[in-house]
Amino acid sequence: MAPRLKIRLTPAAEKAARAGHPWIYADRIRSINRDGEVGELGVVYDRRDRFLGFGLFDPTSPIRLRMLHVGAPATADEDWWVERFRVAVSRRDGMFDAATTGYRWINGESDGLPALVLDRYGEVAVLKIYSAIWLPRVRTVLDWIQQVCRPIQSSIVLRLSRNIAGVAAESFDLHDGDVMLGEIGGPVVFQENGKRFEADVLKGQKTGFFLDQRENRYRVGELAHGRDVLNVFSHTGGFSVYAAVGGARSTTDVDISGHALDEARRNMALNDTGGCRHELVKADAFAWLEATGNRYDLVIIDPPSLARRQSEKAGAISAYRKLARAGARRLRPGGILIAASCSTHVPAREFFKLQREEMQRAGIDETETHLHAPDHAARIPEAHYLKAIYGVARTR
Ligand code: SAH
Repeated sequence: MAPRLKIRLTPAAEKAARAGHPWIYADRIRSINRDGEVGELGVVYDRRDRFLGFGLFDPTSPIRLRMLHVGAPATADEDWWVERFRVAVSRRDGMFDAATTGYRWINGESDGLPALVLDRYGEVAVLKIYSAIWLPRVRTVLDWIQQVCRPIQSSIVLRLSRNIAGVAAESFDLHDGDVMLGEIGGPVVFQENGKRFEADVLKGQKTGFFLDQRENRYRVGELAHGRDVLNVFSHTGGFSVYAAVGGARSTTDVDISGHALDEARRNMALNDTGGCRHELVKADAFAWLEATGNRYDLVIIDPPSLARRQSEKAGAISAYRKLARAGARRLRPGGILIAASCSTHVPAREFFKLQREEMQRAGIDETETHLHAPDHAARIPEAHYLKAIYGVARTR
């Protein structure tokens, strides 16, 4: 057997790791005793040769080591792993009642399991892996999940981020959308605050649904009564279903994806939406907002990430400003504007600042802001991405 992988870090990286930051970049590694394999456990020793912690190694990623544990000497045996999964999952105990069966069980780094997400949709669990470090362990991870999530889930789906799909297929015979346990024929229907939705767990974005917007959807349900609602970048119509059930007069979904709009139509049909009228518009949101003359009493703008890397940040900020101005023009007096952002590279502080400037110019008064939902709690700076700001247009 190869000797254990021993790693020493630069002083700055040692300090950051001690402070709880889980990512060790390749250029922060001062020494390593041999070549490591993907997913291998790497043990970190400090300057005085004392145990500092351990993590999972990836020889090809710029993030060379993702820390799992820092502090007193410990061993990553079966009990340790099961306990790590149990702690994450049990943080959600009591967060939701029976009317909500779709939520996040494990949120990656923020739950001490870097690059690993586990979402629940009723009886189905979706395991999404964002780094190759987990690939050699996927089958063991499934076993741990079954131990801690039992007896709720009957099926488990594996989802892989695009960047690891190649190595997963070639070296581990694992594929995005593999059903690892049980059987799944198609979309899975689950409940959120009593509303019913389908999740495309095999092929949909993220793990099949935008679970992260649950709290904002709930607020929309409370605010929508009697209003004409415009849902820009509507995806599968989550905000519109809450609005319709909450007594909206009409909902208009705008999205560029016909597939998403088809799913939005089915989600509406799964719920009792009374006399609410629904309109679906397949269009580029930027162009449509400029072209339409319609006005609404509640406008939701929740675009996809507009800055996937730091270099795109300036462009994203001007796009957010443009959307805010266009959204404000579509509001009736007394109407509510909700602007959301999921761009990691545009921090909440900057997003709120630009929205406040645009709202002030448009005569809209800020009413509330929201960050991450409790099941999506972010515990490292890089994990913060979601933010939303609400305002109401003055009536005179
Ligand atoms: N609000 C949604 C999530 C939005 S995801 C929810 O709560 O579920 C972003 C959506 O924007 C996707 O459905 C994507 O198809 C759509 N989209 C991306 N670019 C677009 C564009 N230029 N115009 C309209 N829709 C777009």
